[in-house]
Amino acid sequence: MSQECIFCKIIDGDIPAKVVFEDDDFLAFNDISPQAPTHFLVIPKKHISGPAALTDSDQALMGKLVKVGTDLAESSGIQDGFRLVMNNGERAGQTVFHLHMHVLGGRSLTWPPG
Ligand code: 5GP
Ligand code: ZN
Repeated sequence: MSQECIFCKIIDGDIPAKVVFEDDDFLAFNDISPQAPTHFLVIPKKHISGPAALTDSDQALMGKLVKVGTDLAESSGIQDGFRLVMNNGERAGQTVFHLHMHVLGGRSLTWPPG
């Protein structure tokens, strides 16, 4: 838990969010500024600042995170096409420094991203 981390505050229930999934290790909730008709974030409850801060001991956790996001994409009805995104660092657009995976779908998604 990082005291100034907004995603840790969402995990603790101190900041409200539209939660779509929760278990012991993960929370998924709708993005406050959706970039697609379906746009939610999957985060580990463990505070990790971003992909570059991962250690070998996080490998199983990250595998599960991808599986959780994929299962939620399918149960959300966007199984025909969805994108899983993790931004690392300000230059890549990371604004919240608690690791999160964006799950986007519900429209045609262009490539490359901006
Ligand atoms: P990043 O830019 O770090 O990859 O993604 C952070 C995401 O978190 C952004 O898409 C932003 O809209 C979302 N976000 C930031 N603050 C909040 C919040 O308080 N609640 C929710 N639900 N999403 C947030
Ligand atoms: Zn955090």
